[in-house]
Amino acid sequence: MLSRSYVGRFAPSPTGRLHLGSMVAAVASWVDARAHGGTWLVRMEDLDPPREIPGAAQDILQTLLAFGLTWDGEVAYQSQRGHLYQAGLDELLANHQAFGCICTRKQLQEDREEGAHRYPGTCRNGLPSGVQPRSHRFLMPEGQRLSWVDRIAGEQCHDSDDIGDIIVKRADGHWAYHLAVVIDDADQGVTHVVRGADLLDSTSIHLALQQALGLNPLIYAHIPLVVNDQGQKLSKQTMALPVEIDEKEDIMKQVLTHLGMVDIQSTTLPGLLNEGVAWWRKARL
Ligand code: GLU
Repeated sequence: MLSRSYVGRFAPSPTGRLHLGSMVAAVASWVDARAHGGTWLVRMEDLDPPREIPGAAQDILQTLLAFGLTWDGEVAYQSQRGHLYQAGLDELLANHQAFGCICTRKQLQEDREEGAHRYPGTCRNGLPSGVQPRSHRFLMPEGQRLSWVDRIAGEQCHDSDDIGDIIVKRADGHWAYHLAVVIDDADQGVTHVVRGADLLDSTSIHLALQQALGLNPLIYAHIPLVVNDQGQKLSKQTMALPVEIDEKEDIMKQVLTHLGMVDIQSTTLPGLLNEGVAWWRKARL
């Protein structure tokens, strides 16, 4: 029986094949959903065509299946959900919580050189009449403490003034991750987010957007990152190797060990997944 009070998700960007770091996020969110008896969704975050690799989305899904990480329902593709993001932007604009911006990269670079550590609010008060916006920004409320208790990282608190007005629709016409993720999580009924600690800062932005759109805040757990020998986060930029399906038992052991499990007994993939869920239920719930 699936619990409707728990909906989790894994939301990969199809910018390459899954590596150990992304497998950790996938396994942690799957194990958490299964330990709760909840639903686990997969959402392909294919919002950024210039960074996408043809075939990566399919490869990611095949890899998840090969590792026994089955999902519930249909895979959602952000590239097909632009109408939802537009409705969200329209709502923000109608409530004066977003604005059109004409600042160029060059201008923002100059602002930084003059000491601005965030967007300085140049277009906040409107554009000259007849001028079309290049991008759209969320008007970040001033002086707000954005705080939550993370299930893994503990108490978190960010100051909205350090973040500034983030982009929600880019100058190249593509939707920004922050708006899309908040709208999709709400639209898909997601209740729990388990993802890598590289997104801790993003969560404060998501809380601010949820508040502006009248959406419920979610329950967050951020998993410590897997780093390479140089202490860098595993990613395509740091040349992380894709996980090999024919080493799946060994990789699953590495992932569970990274999540904190010791004394792993199983040697088969189904055994490892069951043991992982049973351990997580005791150690993390
Ligand atoms: N698509 C994001 C990534 O691959 C993850 C988004 C999320 O889990 O909220 O880094």
